[in-house]
Amino acid sequence: MSRAPIFKKGDIYMSCDNSRCGNTPCKKPMCKKKCCCPDLICANCHKPESCEYFAKGRVQATGKEATLQDRVRMKKAGRANLYSLTPPFPTSNFLLELSNACNHACLFCAHQKMKRKVGKMKPEMVESALRQAYELGTRECGFYATGEPFVVPELPEYIALAKKIGYTYVYLTSNGALATPEKIRAVIDAGLDSIKFSINAPEREMYKFIHGKDDFDAVVEHLKYLTQYRKESGKNFKIYVTGILTRFTENMRGTYFEKFGDLVDQIVFKLVYNQGGYMPEIEHLLKCECDTEKRRGCNLPFDAICVTQEGYLSVENADYENMLIVGDLNKQTLKEAWYSDKMKEVRQMFMSDCLDGCICDCCIHHNDAPAEPLMPEYATKNDDIFNDKLVRMRIKEAGFPYSKLVYVPMAADIVHPGHINILKQAAKLGRVMVGLFSDEAIRSYKPEPYMNFEQRKAVIENIKGVTYVVKQETKDYSDNLKRFQPDIMVHGTDWRKGPLAEVRQKAIDLLATWGGEVVEPEYTQGVSSTEFKAKVRKG
Ligand code: SF4
Ligand code: SF4
Repeated sequence: MSRAPIFKKGDIYMSCDNSRCGNTPCKKPMCKKKCCCPDLICANCHKPESCEYFAKGRVQATGKEATLQDRVRMKKAGRANLYSLTPPFPTSNFLLELSNACNHACLFCAHQKMKRKVGKMKPEMVESALRQAYELGTRECGFYATGEPFVVPELPEYIALAKKIGYTYVYLTSNGALATPEKIRAVIDAGLDSIKFSINAPEREMYKFIHGKDDFDAVVEHLKYLTQYRKESGKNFKIYVTGILTRFTENMRGTYFEKFGDLVDQIVFKLVYNQGGYMPEIEHLLKCECDTEKRRGCNLPFDAICVTQEGYLSVENADYENMLIVGDLNKQTLKEAWYSDKMKEVRQMFMSDCLDGCICDCCIHHNDAPAEPLMPEYATKNDDIFNDKLVRMRIKEAGFPYSKLVYVPMAADIVHPGHINILKQAAKLGRVMVGLFSDEAIRSYKPEPYMNFEQRKAVIENIKGVTYVVKQETKDYSDNLKRFQPDIMVHGTDWRKGPLAEVRQKAIDLLATWGGEVVEPEYTQGVSSTEFKAKVRKG
């Protein structure tokens, strides 16, 4: 059977979000990009079971009900015309963030770092968004985004409203801890078509570690009740379990089937990823060993709608700090926001593969490059998005091995072999974070630096072995040490005597409070920035 390729030249890099299907690389001459999942639906596909056309054909041919994956593949099938600045309004992939509150603190989730004000969507916004999207052709909606839907008491009312408006498929994802029998009956009786429990470890102790709450037994009871209520009520809703796999759980898939196989229609596994760029530490601390993805695919700006609890249109449902807001439904219609200049700008960025400065770049390329919000007036400033302290400390406290963070303070105005030696030693101990002195910090104890902070940063961040460069605002290291809680601080032995001895002792004492230590490689004799500068001044 031959299948027509559905993506045009230039679209191919973002054609697939089933990025871990493992298909062989694309052989099409037109495909210049090294895409995340090369050409999974074109005629060169060697694994038709992961192909959306195949899924569609299977459902039509067999008459069997679509699996969860089938639904996703079918949604994407034949939608090549989406990749334009003005794509048709989505018929599905419509998510409403009823609230951004959550009762759990999953290890991989940016919710634990979120600084955005917690709130819930106004009832009039829920109704308005549901009605507008329906009028524009959307027929499926989900009630979840960054929060836990069961924290919202009005959830059954909103499900009933969506069904009354005419939505054919209403669904939600929950961690299940608050889904008591009473609440389950309420949402099912309101007309819910499917419910997915996100269970990120299949046994109690690991669950407690990953979710940050000892709710495993309660969640299993709630899952059992869902199955029981389906039998009792005769209602044909679907029950799914999703497991976001980390390096701690990637080998526990079998246990999922043992524990939940008889209770649910399907178990879906996803490999953890950096949460739309909000959790770059996942790369170092949580990523599965089996995950070889280099580049993530994404269709969201073209075929998904997410309305945040504040009533903003976001490109992405996991937009913890509103970095990807493109419109405000308090001031404009959903249609205006979907076709707004800002939304078109984002689509253009995706189509030209030029995402620099956007958090999507961090997401797609798995990096932690600096990112700015699309509309700063709607975003919450969070300087700690790239701080891995919380996750690292949780792993450390649980006694698992992990990639250590090594803090190396320096001024680096004139980079010499002493710096290189220190950085080399530090890199042997873990990921190196250079605490680079600000210009003011240098001025407080040395003459004016030759290079300003940005120039020095550009040099240091390009030295092999350096993972991060952060600004150190004072000569005293305490603020940055407290903020990042490194496992190790590396400093040459030159600070043992003289004016820095006091700073040294303070750093040692501070690090000890969280089990950190100071490592002091031998000071490289004969090289000193101060001496170099003195020579230069003398001429
Ligand atoms: S993954 Fe879901 S349940 Fe876990 S903390 Fe994040 S929002 Fe809450
Ligand atoms: S962060 Fe951007 S690239 Fe990543 S999934 Fe969301 S919209 Fe797509």
